[in-house]
Amino acid sequence: MAKTNIIVPEGVQTDYTSVIVSYSNGIDSTGALYWALQEFPKEKIFLLYCDTGLEYPENIKMFYQTAKFIGVKPILLQHPKGFLDLLLEERLKWPDMKNRWCTAYLKTGVTDHWIRTHRDILGTKCLFISGERRDESRSRAKLPEIEYHSTTLKTKRVADFICHWYRPCLDYEKGKMFEQGQKLGLEPHFCYEYLDRCSCMACMFMSDKHAVENMKRYPHQIRPYIQAETKLAHTWKKNKSLEELWEQCMDIDDVEDMQEVITDGSTKEKT
Ligand code: SF4
Repeated sequence: MAKTNIIVPEGVQTDYTSVIVSYSNGIDSTGALYWALQEFPKEKIFLLYCDTGLEYPENIKMFYQTAKFIGVKPILLQHPKGFLDLLLEERLKWPDMKNRWCTAYLKTGVTDHWIRTHRDILGTKCLFISGERRDESRSRAKLPEIEYHSTTLKTKRVADFICHWYRPCLDYEKGKMFEQGQKLGLEPHFCYEYLDRCSCMACMFMSDKHAVENMKRYPHQIRPYIQAETKLAHTWKKNKSLEELWEQCMDIDDVEDMQEVITDGSTKEKT
């Protein structure tokens, strides 16, 4: 686990050899990027994006465009299996609040591994930055502003490496994040036109109505997850299946068209 809850008593410092901004294309991580750019030269900054496999198809391109536009180094991380294969082959149940394996495997795990295997380019003192805000949830409200990241080495026997995890946006409101994105010249992710959060397309923690919005827009991407529910006999949320939402939001013509596409094995978009 990347969190240690070991507070850095001296707070955030200025002599970091590298800075990693954990970036999702969402507005809060844009605020974290904004902070990093005010405090550190671009040459030190790595923009790190974890592709969970359940992301919007446009996200990777948007991520690279942002890194290029801002002038920071992009780091794209992907777990070899991704969400769907992990669900079907290893975890066999959807994540929930008690067992959020998606974050642990697809974000924290790949990030920690990358940091541990790239100390040569990160130097001896790294700052990891993320964009959580206290008003997003009760658990986020309690997060420390700065703690040691779990990749910190306790002794110098293997190598000399410290990593601090800083959350510069904790006390900001969401509107401020949009303002900061605007100052950077970055357009907010298109999902904010119809959703309140930029998460995975069918995150179990999003509202049903928001999942329906994504289902209507990305039926081909979401359909395999509905099939996974059937295969595993385990539903997306405890009391709600993606299949029920699918039946609510797709009219009969949509479903027939989708069946044809699946039978053909074609991935062409419907016209
Ligand atoms: S956004 Fe939701 S589904 Fe995606 S990794 Fe986070 S908790 Fe899991």
